[in-house]
Amino acid sequence: LTRLYGPLTQLSNVHVDVMTALVSFERVFEVLDLKPAIEDRPGAAALDVPPGGASVEFDHVGFRYPAASEVSLASLESVAVLDPRVPAPVLRDVTFRVAPGELVALVGPSGAGKTTISQLVPRIYDALDGAVRVGGLDVRDVTLESLRATVGVVTQDAHMFHDTIRANLAFARADATDERMWAALDAAQIGALVRSLPDGLDTVVGDRGYRLSGGEKQRLAIARLLVKEPSVVVLDEATAHLDSESEAAVQRALTAALTGRTALVIAHRLSTVRDADRILVVADGRVVEEGRHADLLARDGLYAELYRTQFADDSPAPAAA
Ligand code: ADP
Ligand code: MG
Repeated sequence: LTRLYGPLTQLSNVHVDVMTALVSFERVFEVLDLKPAIEDRPGAAALDVPPGGASVEFDHVGFRYPAASEVSLASLESVAVLDPRVPAPVLRDVTFRVAPGELVALVGPSGAGKTTISQLVPRIYDALDGAVRVGGLDVRDVTLESLRATVGVVTQDAHMFHDTIRANLAFARADATDERMWAALDAAQIGALVRSLPDGLDTVVGDRGYRLSGGEKQRLAIARLLVKEPSVVVLDEATAHLDSESEAAVQRALTAALTGRTALVIAHRLSTVRDADRILVVADGRVVEEGRHADLLARDGLYAELYRTQFADDSPAPAAA
């Protein structure tokens, strides 16, 4: 199952009409059976996280998605890139460091490259130039298993398997005890709901089982992350499809997920960017501004503009003091 995680993450990102237009379902499954393009280098070492947590570093990272001519159907990425044109660089000279325990927010216009940055940390893709390091080690030099045990990812459309809640949580960590699962479910604000289901942890979720609402699905994804107890959390926090009640619960769950960990958050909420230790403003594949909320506002550049357009209506203005 661990092998499938990367490809499935990508599968969920593939636009449905691209898939139906360009690939038959047989081909998708043929692709799924083949080896992922990202694999362990011979002699790769396990990533050992120091007690203080792991840093995340981007060192002059450049990236573009592969052209159709460069990939065979042997890797699932090809499903998304059947466009014959040579793609333009998506990331150029991206350099930053997230210290252990630090929370760094990524903000920027749609298409700027934020999701791509987040995918290079757990090696969904590899950088073409420069290096991505976790805990000081190049991610290409450590085992995928240890990297993905260290880096927990929650995306906007978390994938849940049509299986029991227990199996979905154990997917993050096969040796997780029930006690640990309940602690994670409680911290993720979904323990009470699971306790209320007749089959508890053995409840099957999905279309033919218990149908999770958007907010429940997201909280279950956060519980799955917590079961893993990752040192590093990478998070895309979009909440567009949540009602305000589950948004508040998801927010509490996310706070539990981020506390005490190194965090890289694609921030869609004003509260996250305001509280971040540092904000990276990404535009056209580059980090164009960096600093704290107040500093960046004072600078009156792209961040200030995003603040007015993306974040302004996100939460009520604080009462005048
Ligand atoms: P953001 O998350 O900031 O909105 P993305 O990282 O998703 O930006 O996208 C950056 C650029 O890369 C965009 O131009 C987007 O169209 C392109 N892109 C994203 N995913 C893929 C993919 N799988 N294949 C080809 N191009 C992609
Ligand atoms: Mg994105």
